[in-house]
Parts: sequence; C-alpha cells; structure tokens
Amino acid sequence: MTPDPAPMLPHYSHRAPIALSVSAHNRIGGRRTDDAWMAETWKSARTRVLLVHQGQLVVSPDGTAPVWVSPAEAPRGQRVLLGEYGDEVRFAVLADDVPDGLDVAPLRAHVQTLDPEEAALVLQAVALAQWHRSHRHCPRCGGRLEIAQAGHVQVCTDCDVQQFPRTDPAVIMLVTDAEDRCLLGRQAEWAEGRFSTLAGFVEPGESLEQAVAREVEEEVGVVIEAVDYFGNQPWPFPASLMVGFFARAATTRIDVDGAEISAARWFTRQEMRTEAEAGTLVLPGGISISRSLVETWYGGPLPGAW
Ligand SMILES: [Zn+2]
Repeated sequence: MTPDPAPMLPHYSHRAPIALSVSAHNRIGGRRTDDAWMAETWKSARTRVLLVHQGQLVVSPDGTAPVWVSPAEAPRGQRVLLGEYGDEVRFAVLADDVPDGLDVAPLRAHVQTLDPEEAALVLQAVALAQWHRSHRHCPRCGGRLEIAQAGHVQVCTDCDVQQFPRTDPAVIMLVTDAEDRCLLGRQAEWAEGRFSTLAGFVEPGESLEQAVAREVEEEVGVVIEAVDYFGNQPWPFPASLMVGFFARAATTRIDVDGAEISAARWFTRQEMRTEAEAGTLVLPGGISISRSLVETWYGGPLPGAW
C-alpha cells in the first residue's frame, strides 16, 4: 500500500536548515572529457587540490581537515575534477602515499567541523575515492576497470561497459500522530537516552513513500497513512542520499521489531523539551537531517545532541 503523497499533515512554520544540502560549487561536467583544458588548468595558480588517501581525508598533524594544496605540491595519484568554486578550480588527488608530516582521518570524524561552503566538495571527493577503492572490477564480466572522465566514470577494459558511482537512497522520517506527537526510536547498542527518527534503505522497485510506510511498519508496527517530503542530505558513509519526510500515523500502538529498533515512544513537545533539558533524552547530532526534522516539528532549537 502506498500512503497518500498529498497529505493533510500540519504545516510547520519553523523550518530548521539541513546541513550539507547546499553546494557552492559548479561541477562543470562538460569539462571532464576536455583533456587540454584540464592540463592547462592544472598549471594555473587558481587551482586548488584536496588530498585524499584510500578513501580517507588527508589531515594536518594537528588534526584539522581538510588539506588543500597547489597542483605543484600535490602528491602522485589519480586526479579527480571536482568543479569550479568562485574563480578557482578544485580538484582532488587520490594520493598513492600520504605526504610526510600529514596524516589521514575518516571523513566522519571531521564532517561536523567542515566549512559549510566547502563541504560539498569534500563529500564529493571522498565519495568518489571510496567508489574507486571498492570498484576495481567490472560487475558484468570481471574485467579490469579503467578510470575515465576525470575520475567520474570507470570503463571496463574487456567489455567496454561504463560504470558510474552509485548513490543509495535511504528514507528518514519523523512520524506524527493525530495529536501531533512525534515518534522516535532507539537501537539497543546506543548510549542510554539516545533516540532518533526512524530510517531505512529504499528497496528495488519501491517508491520513497512506500519505503517510508514499510520501514515504519517493520520497525515499530505503526501504520502510515500520509507522507510529506521535507528535504534531503547527501550522506556519503559510504554512499547514501538521506531523503527526509514527515509521515502521519493511522495507528499509535508500538510493536518494535527488536532487531533494528529496541524501543520507541511518542513524545509531546513538552516531554521532549523537559527530557532534553534534563539530559535523559539525547537527540540526534546538529548536522544530521534527523535533527532538522525534529527541530522543524518542535518549532525551534532543542538542547543536547550526540
Ligand atoms: Zn566488463
């Protein structure tokens, strides 16, 4: 069953912004096959290069990320054209070795502190680097893949099939009932008091609305009657696009699956505020779309985060 995609959900006047969902760069896809332009640009003083090694960010010894260098300073490795950023051109180099004096760290460790303007460049570079690392052979014939189009395509050397980087859609939803209470769940291994919105991957042949309804019913046994789009957030850990929704429940009885979700409950705004202030409820982190959903429903900022 597909819930009503044009629902009668409440209109929330406060809209919390979604981190990482705005890009300040132009991806200039048409230049990816322009080898002469790329060679010329690589010599230009207006070119900056992000260093990535084995799918991780290269960071300075004090741990601040990311490291941008000039082309002359860039180590050996696969070049990836990221795009134009203001009057600069940005590349990434998937470095064969980490330059002396530098270190590597997972993007996840730094995603909270990325410059919001540059975040999309960094997410793009790390997602492509992880794709290069995990896709070495053609899924059709097992042949060797060769990198093309400035790092954005791989081509099989045996059967010529092109491979493109994949992005896996996942739905994340804040469920409300007729009293506009909000449903949050927790996983058994999470620290005490930590609750979040429900989420799950979209299955083949499934619409986003169907995925919202299926995941909620599977995880907590609540039936969804209406779904309303909220916004989306790239989440390349390793390759997701989180698509956010508000969902209206037709039922309120909770029956957790005990596998993905170990507990779930309904919150009024007052309960959420009181428990978050007391620290007995720990809400999702500031840059997550989950936080944006919760604060949009709540009507403003809330204390505490993991
Ligand atoms: Zn092949």
